[in-house]
Amino acid sequence: MTHPAQPKASHFINGAYVEDTSGTPIPVIYPATGELIATVYAATPAIVEQALASAAAAQKEWAKWTGTERGRVLRRAADIIRARNHELSVLETYDTGKPLQETLVADATSAADALEYFGGLAGSLTGEHIPMGDNWVYTIREPLGLCVGIGAWNYPTQIACWKGAPALACGNSMVFKPSETTPLCALKVAEILCEAGAPAGLYNVVQGMGEVGGALVTDPRVAKVSLTGSAPTGKKVYAAAAAGMKHVTMELGGKSPLIIFDDADLESAISGAINGNFYSSGQVCSNGTRVFVQKGIKEKFLTRLAERVKAGAVLGDPQDEAVNFGPMVSENQMNIVLGYLEKGQAEGARLICGGKRAEMDGFFIEPTVFADVTDEMTIAREEIFGPVMSVLDFDSEDEVIARANATEFGLSAGVFTRDFARAHRVIGQLEAGSCFINSYNDAPVEAPFGGVKASGVGRENSKEAIKHYSQVKSVFVRMGDCEAAF
Ligand code: NDP
Repeated sequence: MTHPAQPKASHFINGAYVEDTSGTPIPVIYPATGELIATVYAATPAIVEQALASAAAAQKEWAKWTGTERGRVLRRAADIIRARNHELSVLETYDTGKPLQETLVADATSAADALEYFGGLAGSLTGEHIPMGDNWVYTIREPLGLCVGIGAWNYPTQIACWKGAPALACGNSMVFKPSETTPLCALKVAEILCEAGAPAGLYNVVQGMGEVGGALVTDPRVAKVSLTGSAPTGKKVYAAAAAGMKHVTMELGGKSPLIIFDDADLESAISGAINGNFYSSGQVCSNGTRVFVQKGIKEKFLTRLAERVKAGAVLGDPQDEAVNFGPMVSENQMNIVLGYLEKGQAEGARLICGGKRAEMDGFFIEPTVFADVTDEMTIAREEIFGPVMSVLDFDSEDEVIARANATEFGLSAGVFTRDFARAHRVIGQLEAGSCFINSYNDAPVEAPFGGVKASGVGRENSKEAIKHYSQVKSVFVRMGDCEAAF
């Protein structure tokens, strides 16, 4: 019997599901059991061509719609997503293994938020009038054209909408390629946008590995590339886009610091550290994986943290709403994380809890805390993308700021303290794009999201995203005669 997660076909192009089984098969594995739940096929060159041609044609028409009309489609799609939240969350759980308890509140819902927010902004995207004496200049905020979105595997529905919603609001079209690890959810986004009234071809989904992404990025019809992925992939995609002078948004990885001062509310700080390391089993780019704890409270912090992790984490079937901790997205990701667990111990970090694969089916790793981690250890330098928290000690404010910044990454940073002057002073000096005070990992659509340094270029969400999906034309208007030197 076909599994309910099996999509009607691999791709969604020009308003319909499209299949081409001559592409490389991509097995979809449910990470909680290792069971094959669906198969899709990588896009062939003919499929890529169909998607690009239909997106290019649809964009020309869509750009003629008023902003209010475009916004109405996005807001309708948001309503449909909310109405179907349970079904979409179940699918997200099959695609990623994240617990239903999470997906019900964090995935389709955040996708709907993005569609609603950018749908609301669409009608207000105007230019300016600039008086120049008798003459004047006006500006027009124009779409870029055909945009390509390429997603990572941790938030497949959210990423499809964080890219699609601002792109479409500004009058662009999109071809979206999900990660081959999680190909299912973006198809639903495309289907729902069509149901909401988006013209055929406006938002297309094609499956495939890096080479399909590469074909999309280098196509001359494409005006912009928005990638969520790792820093090494980001560098490749950025370079390929630069060769065609295309716009880019790069949402890449991180190794973010979470700094806990000795005056912090301990339970609240521990909650921040848990959210910033174990939500989505640690597979979140902005995670605060380097937890700097001021020396005076270190042992108290570790004891209470270990108690809460051991008592609180419920591993099990992610479709069971009582479960709050799921598996790694794939066997491959699990093996990568297990490698880091070995390195942590070999390099002398003190294991506080977890530290191994959980004894159950699927790709589960126990939530793990290492203490006495030093800046040089591999687990403190490299992005792990799994449930592995590194606790480092520090003495002074200046010292911790310097150490927090000593990384190529700069996605996020957090500070816990009751001293608000210190909180703002420290955050002001941290090299990171998305920061938190007495909290961690909140990502409302109203707030800009993105990194500095090797963590990326551009911003998603908020009004900032509009700047990255549109361009400004300026028009000088002379009211009198035009004079020349000769
Ligand atoms: P990857 O960088 O491996 O892949 C990201 C996407 O790019 C995938 O769809 C991948 O396809 C595609 N891709 C790979 N090579 C190319 C290429 N040469 N040209 C075009 N596309 C290509 O990341 P993961 O999927 O493994 O995701 C995990 C990473 O994503 C982590 O490092 C994490 O930090 C980062 N991330 C960043 C976020 C942010 O907002 N800053 C949010 C979430 C994750 P395929 O996988 O099918 O080969």
